[in-house]
Formats: sequence, C-alpha cells, structure tokens
Amino acid sequence: MPTFVYMTSCDGCGYCVDVCPSDIMHIDSSTRRAYNIEPNMCWECYSCVKACPQQAIDCRGYADFAPMGHSVRVLREEAKGAISWKIKFRNGQEKDFVSPIRTTPWGSIKPPVDYDAPAPEAMKSQQLAHEPDSLHIEALPMLQPGRSSEGGH
Ligand code: SF4
Ligand code: SF4
Repeated sequence: MPTFVYMTSCDGCGYCVDVCPSDIMHIDSSTRRAYNIEPNMCWECYSCVKACPQQAIDCRGYADFAPMGHSVRVLREEAKGAISWKIKFRNGQEKDFVSPIRTTPWGSIKPPVDYDAPAPEAMKSQQLAHEPDSLHIEALPMLQPGRSSEGGH
C-alpha cells in the first residue's frame, strides 16, 4: 500500500522525509510539498503517515487488503498520544482501533545528531551504534570458545 500525499494539506515540514526508512519521501523543489518518489519501494510501514502532523499522507490500498469500497485511514492524535485506525469495510461496517503512539513521550528520544560521532575504529566492530548502552546492559552476550559443546550438543 504505497503512500501518497494530499498536496493541499502538506506544509512541507519534512517529518515524513526524516522518518522514511526507504528514503523515498522527498520534498518537491518547486512546490515545496512532499511526495513519494518511488511507490514500488515503499515498505508500507506507515511511519510517514503517523509522523505527518497535517494528516496529509494516505496509503493506496491494494485490492487484496482494501478491495473496492474498503478503506483504511490512520489518524495521528498527538494530544491523546495515540494513533487511531479507522477500517471501513465494503458493506459499510466500520471498526476503530486506538493504539499508543509510543512508549516514551513524543520527541523525547535523543536523535543521532546529538550523539558524538563514532571513532573510525568503530567500523570494525560488530556492535551497532550505542550498543550495549542503548540496551541498558554492561556487555553483549558473547559466544565463549569451548563452551558450545556444553549440554551434550
Ligand atoms: Fe516510507 Fe514507510 Fe511512508 Fe512507505 S510507508 S513512504 S516506506 S515511511
Ligand atoms: Fe508534508 Fe506531512 Fe510530510 Fe510534513 S510530514 S512534509 S506535512 S506530508
């Protein structure tokens, strides 16, 4: 279900551009409005839909998921800290779901730009950035040579 932008609702804030894991939400340089540059590469993750403060992004449902007459709308309700889903079936039946936006307050996670840049040697490490700190553990579990046969395997 690739996304598309209602140009008249978009204000060009760029939140969708920042959040898109596929890097396909771009701002048109002439209209200053966002658009999906490559719908075929859309992960259908809904991140941009949820992030858009203007409710300007919608998803074009494929026929298997949203047959003609069926619709799925996502509404970000920041004041309530919730994402609301409205499913409308072909027979007119509607179902509403509400789920928390996230487990931490909106905007409370430190962005990568606020961290010190990793040292060049970090490229040789198998650890991801900020591991193990971000997992709140002292060290990642490691395979110990000679211990793999313990337990009779
Ligand atoms: Fe990008 Fe996900 Fe939005 Fe698709 S649904 S445009 S992958 S953020
Ligand atoms: Fe436009 Fe919404 Fe994207 Fe902001 S997040 S640029 S308002 S589509």
